[in-house]
Amino acid sequence: MKIRVRVAPSPTGFLHIGTAQSALYNWLFARKNKGEFCLRIEDTDKERSTKEYEQSILDALEWLGLNWEGKVIRQSERTEKYKNALEKLLFEGRAFYCHHTKEELEGEAKDQAQNKKAQFHDCEHKNSEEGKKSGGLIRLAVERNSDRKVVFDDIIRGRIEFEAKLMSDVSLGNGFDRLLYNFTAVVDDIDMEITHVIRGEDHVSNTPKQILIYEALGKTPPQFAHLPLILAPDRSKLSKRHGAVAVVDYKKDYLPEAIINFLGAMSCTFSKEILTKQEMIQEFELSKVHKSGAVFDVKKLNWLNSQYAKKLSPEEFKKSVGIPEIPDSAVPLITERLEKLSDAHHFDYFWKEPKYDKDLLKWKKSTLENSLETLIKVKKIIKEFDFKKEKDELRKILDEFSIAVGDRGLIYWPLRVALTGKEKSPDPVDIAYVLGKEKTLERVRFALGI
Ligand code: GLU
Repeated sequence: MKIRVRVAPSPTGFLHIGTAQSALYNWLFARKNKGEFCLRIEDTDKERSTKEYEQSILDALEWLGLNWEGKVIRQSERTEKYKNALEKLLFEGRAFYCHHTKEELEGEAKDQAQNKKAQFHDCEHKNSEEGKKSGGLIRLAVERNSDRKVVFDDIIRGRIEFEAKLMSDVSLGNGFDRLLYNFTAVVDDIDMEITHVIRGEDHVSNTPKQILIYEALGKTPPQFAHLPLILAPDRSKLSKRHGAVAVVDYKKDYLPEAIINFLGAMSCTFSKEILTKQEMIQEFELSKVHKSGAVFDVKKLNWLNSQYAKKLSPEEFKKSVGIPEIPDSAVPLITERLEKLSDAHHFDYFWKEPKYDKDLLKWKKSTLENSLETLIKVKKIIKEFDFKKEKDELRKILDEFSIAVGDRGLIYWPLRVALTGKEKSPDPVDIAYVLGKEKTLERVRFALGI
């Protein structure tokens, strides 16, 4: 049996980071088992789905390198399939028209909520003549005159049971024009020959409904694995109110390899912290996926990102941050200190003249006059120094000078500000070597106003 899995995002928004994680685990599972990973766009909600969102989802998956097999399946292109399946269910009496009005159903739900009961609708139309005639909602008739339990063995969570008598008659469609998720997903998973449905734990309660739909259609359900949710620091489900949740929002700041490593390791145990996709494929098992949700730890993501950034060649780095003018020799100084890719802009003095207030040249334990006077001497040292020599030699001369002056800050602070316009930066000697002797002297002269 060839393993086939899928990710099924709805194009009603950008690709959610949680859906990206589901996609990754599906992808890893497929690769590990020499199976196929497919992409289905669940665009039955005509009002909320857009082509722009769909394109952004495809772009985000491509950016993450989660390539799918064959063509993209779109639910909006499969209406005939759903209609045929629904007609069959109605004809066989497995589905029926629920003639309750929206108000009646809402009233029932409100009563149940007030009496602290679970939402439930056991429709009397399913066994009546009325239920055979067209109406609004089409439902699957759930037989509940028994002690039947709908059971599945979740690969991650173990055995899960639902009592059929507590399940509502499952909504399949609002007429034939507005088909609903549980129904279309099952019809598609059957047609796509999906063997394992791996998705977020928020779908656990949909699974028994889907199992009943499989049965009504005379098919064997696939295996299910429900992934833990990604949590916010307050341990609630990560959502927009906690900040960025769309993959596109991470694009400007993170390398795709870092996101993949982060999402993969977040809810699955691997042998080490930093792994390539290939290593993840080798080690991945659904049984290694955790049951409880993990908190989205942005510090961890930043750390991983910095590790991956350090591995890039100057060319790759410049491309990733979108700043071609960065001098190659500045790249290691930047990646050493960078967490997010956009942090690279804080180092713009490597490719732009710095702008700063002259008062910044004043070393805090001294006066502006003294700071500038020392800078004049530093300028002389630099002018006389041959940059072909090792930079440690220049550092040594400046260090000796600072011992003589008795205050290291008085030497390095004004030089740092002259070269960068900032209070914090890599070592000024390292910067001078990236800028070169001419540019370094030019900036020092500018600082001195000469
Ligand atoms: N469109 C659903 C979602 O994004 C798909 C769930 C599933 O994988 O069955 O949550």
